[in-house]
Amino acid sequence: MAAGSPSRPEGPIYLDHHATTPLDERVLEVMLPYLREDFGNAASRTHLFGWRAEAAVDDARERLSEMLGARDPAEIVFTSGATESNNLAILGLAESQRSRRHLITIQTEHPSVLDPCRALTRRGFELTELAVDSMGLVTVDVVEAAIREDTFLVSVMAANNEIGVLQPIREIASLCRDRGIPFHSDAAQAVGKIALDVDREGLDLLSVSGHKIYGPKGVGLLRVRKSGRPRLTLEPRQYGGGHEGGLRAGTLPVASVVGLARALEICLEEREAEALRLAKLRDQLKKELEAMLPGRVIVNGDETRRLPGNLNLCFLGIDGERLLADLSGIAVSSGSACSSAEPGPSPVLLALGREASLAKASLRFGFGRANTPDDVSEAARCVALAVRAQLGPH
Ligand code: PMP
Repeated sequence: MAAGSPSRPEGPIYLDHHATTPLDERVLEVMLPYLREDFGNAASRTHLFGWRAEAAVDDARERLSEMLGARDPAEIVFTSGATESNNLAILGLAESQRSRRHLITIQTEHPSVLDPCRALTRRGFELTELAVDSMGLVTVDVVEAAIREDTFLVSVMAANNEIGVLQPIREIASLCRDRGIPFHSDAAQAVGKIALDVDREGLDLLSVSGHKIYGPKGVGLLRVRKSGRPRLTLEPRQYGGGHEGGLRAGTLPVASVVGLARALEICLEEREAEALRLAKLRDQLKKELEAMLPGRVIVNGDETRRLPGNLNLCFLGIDGERLLADLSGIAVSSGSACSSAEPGPSPVLLALGREASLAKASLRFGFGRANTPDDVSEAARCVALAVRAQLGPH
């Protein structure tokens, strides 16, 4: 177990850390004063309550901008999470366009990127959704070939939420910079887990979510580059009191903002050691399952360019729905929580070229701070039992 990890809750073993993570106790601790005595509105300019809240927000903004590698704290726009950040980046940039009408993204993006991009096509914009290869990756050449004179945005996620693969965002960002096209990356699954430096890597617009990094739910941020070229102009998606430089009106959730900064700090402090630990758990699960279910296990997505805590597997000849129903001992998912309202195989696995029936028989394992090697062995045992139950006696 990693330092400061939450104690194990009753019930199944939690292996769904891509869906969400528990709030770290150390994060809760710094949040509590802002839910109690320091409850002020950060926009109140006339008294101590407001000043204290504002100071806490300023401090969090400064630390977050530094941790992400942005030069100017004003580039950090607090939002309700990565969904809002993605929408603000894509729709906000589209709305400020005069003549450019084309945007590029990839087929395996999260719905909070794909859906706003698709919505724009109903308003006269043109969208290129790039295919990924059988490992789930897009190459910089494929992106380059799709760029047009009137391309105003390229949006490619840093880490996939289902198969954990890491897209070559540095190379794509550098291409976009050369071509004078703004680049956005949904880094909800990547921030705190892989090294990111927005200025150095040319990540003009970057989406972050609190609850994926052991912070609170309902808070996130969008990094919006302020200086340099190409110039970025975003139209707000909501209007009101002019908060967040006029880009995102609404009273800030001070405790959550403070929690977000602390959560990222802890992730970065522990990142390297935790990455090694999680990768070991991931490799252990794969090895144990392959040994228990020879010839039945297929790994989805590239195994080297991947988040350390992610393993996504398909099980040959198995009914996916029954498999999930038989797995009461562990909390995992098939596909992502965000699209689980839509029945059917995961669009991400279909994009890799998996057949629908095989794609349905998939499990996404997301390891996190509280997980131990014993959890992994127990998970392997549960999965092997459930798979064997369907195969029957030989
Ligand atoms: N993007 C990705 C890649 C995600 O995994 C998620 C969460 N499932 C989101 C965006 C949405 O984040 P939030 O829950 O903070 O709106």
